[in-house]
Amino acid sequence: MTIDLHTHTAFSDGTDSPAQLMSAAVAAGLDTVAITDHDTTEGWAPAAAARPEQMVLVRGAEFSTHYRHESGRVSVHLLGYLFDPAAPVLLAEVARLQDDRLHRGMAIVDRLIAGGVPISRQQVLEIAGDAPVGRPHIGRALMAAGLVNSVTEAFEVYLAGNGPYYVDKADTELFDAVALVRAAGGVPVLAHPRSRSAARATDAALLGRLADAGLAGVEADHPDHDAAARAELRAIAGPLGLIVTGSSDYHGTNKAIRIGQERSTAEALAAIVAASSGTTGLLGPGA
Ligand code: AMP
Ligand code: ZN
Ligand code: FE
Ligand code: FE
Repeated sequence: MTIDLHTHTAFSDGTDSPAQLMSAAVAAGLDTVAITDHDTTEGWAPAAAARPEQMVLVRGAEFSTHYRHESGRVSVHLLGYLFDPAAPVLLAEVARLQDDRLHRGMAIVDRLIAGGVPISRQQVLEIAGDAPVGRPHIGRALMAAGLVNSVTEAFEVYLAGNGPYYVDKADTELFDAVALVRAAGGVPVLAHPRSRSAARATDAALLGRLADAGLAGVEADHPDHDAAARAELRAIAGPLGLIVTGSSDYHGTNKAIRIGQERSTAEALAAIVAASSGTTGLLGPGA
């Protein structure tokens, strides 16, 4: 099996429509793909409709969370798979996150404008469309203004978390987010735990406490992880009984990463399915 468990469509901050993402998945030789847009499940139905007959679709989402570490507040991303998208607790939190993304995105745009950058609120809203607003949408506006050549460069020059234009967004406390995904019948998997600031908090002790609290897995193979990080996460996950996944975190042309660049095993996927409540199953052959 050729499985990629973490991708973004234009329903969040990727650039592919669900149909384009399915074509890209086929072209990359995948037989299973998860869509995990930030803070939304709006892409689930279009992805299901666009799913080629031979493709297995895993429905999920990626949530931004924070953990209060001794070094300060640390941003950690959490993937949720196969949860009930209509679970009231989840709907309420998703609505709060999406509303704040709009205000926070506009606050970043206002700071850029005040700094003399020639972009507009309207332009960023048009780029985002119906998606929860994210910094990559602002990055595309900066590209359109001719200020940068890629979204990655926009992050380096204008959008970094420690930069002058940055504004925090609302997120969910990490342990609360794990509980929320479980309460909705889903399977929580820590996304790229060794990327950026998350790396300083996600040690064996924290992963142990998270596993006790319901965390089901960790994403070890991810473009942000070097070989040492991958090996250490596997070593921590084993004794805790955590599922180990691998995923590209594909964003279309918003990131220089190919779909299917990192993969998960059939065993990992089977363990995710077994850990879910069954309200939202896999779609496709064998499902
Ligand atoms: P936000 O969710 O608005 O805080 O924006 C952060 C998102 O932007 C992350 O979840 C990634 O999808 C994306 N991102 C972060 N760093 C970069 C980068 N250097 N280049 C392109 N996209 C990035
Ligand atoms: Zn993203
Ligand atoms: Fe992420
Ligand atoms: Fe992601």
